[in-house]
This record gives sequence, C-alpha cells and structure tokens, in this order.
Amino acid sequence: MPLSMKAKRLWLRVIAWLFPERCIFCDEPIPSLTLCCEDCRRELLLIKPPLCPYCGMSKTDCNCRRRRHRYDRVAAPFYSDGAAHEGLLRLKRIDDPQAIAYFADQMAATVRREYGEESLHVAAAVPMMTADRYERGYNQSELLAKAVAERLGIPYVAVLTKCYATQPQKALSAWERAGNVLGAYDVEQASLIVDKTVLLVDDVLTTGATTDECAKMLKLYGAARVLCVTAAIRRPKPKKQ
Ligand SMILES: [Zn+2]
Ligand SMILES: [Zn+2]
Repeated sequence: MPLSMKAKRLWLRVIAWLFPERCIFCDEPIPSLTLCCEDCRRELLLIKPPLCPYCGMSKTDCNCRRRRHRYDRVAAPFYSDGAAHEGLLRLKRIDDPQAIAYFADQMAATVRREYGEESLHVAAAVPMMTADRYERGYNQSELLAKAVAERLGIPYVAVLTKCYATQPQKALSAWERAGNVLGAYDVEQASLIVDKTVLLVDDVLTTGATTDECAKMLKLYGAARVLCVTAAIRRPKPKKQ
C-alpha cells in the first residue's frame, strides 16, 4: 500500500531529526534545504568583478603590481576569510557532496564570467601524494575539478601527479613556499594536454606557489595556456604602516 502524504511527511521529519542537515561551511545543524546557516551566509565574502587577472582579487583590493605567474590567469568566487575558509577546512574532513556541488556551481559561474571568451579544453586538479589521498580517501581539489568540468562540459584529466611529500605550506613564507613545492609535481599522459588550454583547479590560492609549480609543469609538457580557478583566494594581511 502506498504511503499517504501525511505518513511521508512524518517519515521525512523523523529522518531530519535523526540526521539533521549540516551547514556546508561550519557544520552546525540547520533546517533542511537551507544549505548553510545565517551566520555563514552573512560571512561569505564574494570577490566582486572586475578582477585582477594576476592575483584574482577585485581590482579595488589588488596590491600585486601585476606580478607575473606561470599560470595565465586566476579567478575564484570567494575570499577565503570567514565562511569560505571554514567550508574549505570542513571539506578536508568530510567529502560532503552538497558542499562540493555548491562550490563547483560558484566556480563554474566564475569561469563562465571571467573566461567566457577562452576555449577551455580540459580540467586538471592540483594532486596529492597517493599515500595522503589514500589516507583521506579523496582529494578535495580533484572532486572540485571533476564537478566543475562536468558543469562546463569539458573532460577532467588526471595528468598531474605529486612525486614527493612537501611540508605543509601553511607555516612557510612566500619564498619558502615556492622552494618547498619546487619539482614536487609531474605530468603523466602529456598527450592529453599538448596545445590545450587547461583549467587548473584547486581549493584555495594563497601565494600561488603550488598552482604556479603545477602550471609550470603543464606548460613544460606542452599545454598552451593554463587558467586557474579556485574556490577561494586568501587576501594577504595588510602590511603594518
Ligand atoms: Zn554555518
Ligand atoms: Zn592583482
């Protein structure tokens, strides 16, 4: 016998009570179908166009003096202060498909807006060491890259590999970061990227050292252009006067 509407609603309430939905940023329980809590919604900092193509920040916030990188352009939907930062930390603990879908929607929209005139051929992700990936069970940048590629209708290619373990970038200065990742990445199946415009996907861009190193390798193996998209960009702290 089919369940009556009333019984169905009651069942859904029991499920919601047993397994409350969680804010995709801070992991607090939230009413169903709201995706994130009010606090996080308020604390989400959008990067408003026009963007600086070199650092990816709003031109009004940019202080990079057109510093060149190995990648051709970078863009992201959010600054990593506040809610986006919490959300990306959470993504390292839980591979929440809702959070992946949310960030991928925002990243794909940013790509369409910023790189609309480019013809993107393939998407690649900043890789993790095989052992680290095994331990975590997934690489959040790869999940984002696959979801963004699907939204843009381009193939995801697993061409980048990480050849040796590096120190966590977090504790290092900008110069140390570049040295730390030097030579850490390699390219497999280079034929997939030769003469192609590659969309390089990562979760967060801080100094750009990791994306720079990956872009360098992609170009070394024949990629024509490398355009980056990340879920968030970290703003440098204002220099003390
Ligand atoms: Zn929240
Ligand atoms: Zn800039």
